[in-house]
This record gives sequence, structure tokens and C-alpha cells, in this order.
Amino acid sequence: MPEQPPLIHRQTPSPPVLCSNCAACCCRLEVMLVTDTGVPARFIEQDRWGGETMRRLDDGWCAALDRDSMRCTIYANRPLICREFEMGSPECVEERGDLAQAYR
Ligand code: SF4
Ligand code: SF4
Repeated sequence: MPEQPPLIHRQTPSPPVLCSNCAACCCRLEVMLVTDTGVPARFIEQDRWGGETMRRLDDGWCAALDRDSMRCTIYANRPLICREFEMGSPECVEERGDLAQAYR
């Protein structure tokens, strides 16, 4: 009997870490406003201690996110924390992993 050919283990390639193939996973994190970048008041929520955060919708995503394009509608005025959140950083990869089912 001929030997069985070796099994080829195929791995599903993981998508590259790009915002363009992500469901804006980091836009479900709490974003505190620590500087004034001109975020419109309708997107700001105040906690009982006076701290300000980006308002989030019931499903957790930031209210300033365009739900069709999954892009930020206030990009030029986005909070400092959003500016500093780096694509491909450990935090980014973790958020993508938590929401793998949400990739578009
Ligand atoms: S920074 Fe990371 S988690 Fe945020 S949208 Fe881009 S790829 Fe997704
Ligand atoms: S302000 Fe823009 S970048 Fe920041 S969490 Fe909201 S949608 Fe995302």
C-alpha cells in the first residue's frame, strides 16, 4: 500500500492589521476627553464628577462614528486619545481580537 501523502496543514491567513479591514473596534472603548480638540457638544457625555467622555450608543460604538462607512465623522476634531491610538499597537490587536466576528 502506498504511503499516505503528508497532511498539509493549511492555516487561514489572518487579515493584516489595517483600519480599512476593521469594524472600528477601538471606537467602542471609553474615550475620555483630556484636552479640547473641538468635539461637538452633542457627542460629549459628562460623568457625575464633571469628567467628559465621548458619548456611546447602546451597542457600545462611539456616537461620532458613521455606521455606514465605519469612519469617524469628526476626524479633524477627534479627541487626543483617538489620535494617539496606533493602528497595529498591542491595544489595537487586542480590540480586533475581541471583535473578530465583527470584521467587515
Ligand atoms: S486602530 Fe486598530 S482597532 Fe482601531 S480601527 Fe484601526 S485597526 Fe481597528
Ligand atoms: S471620536 Fe472618532 S476616532 Fe474617536 S472613538 Fe469616536 S469615532 Fe472613533
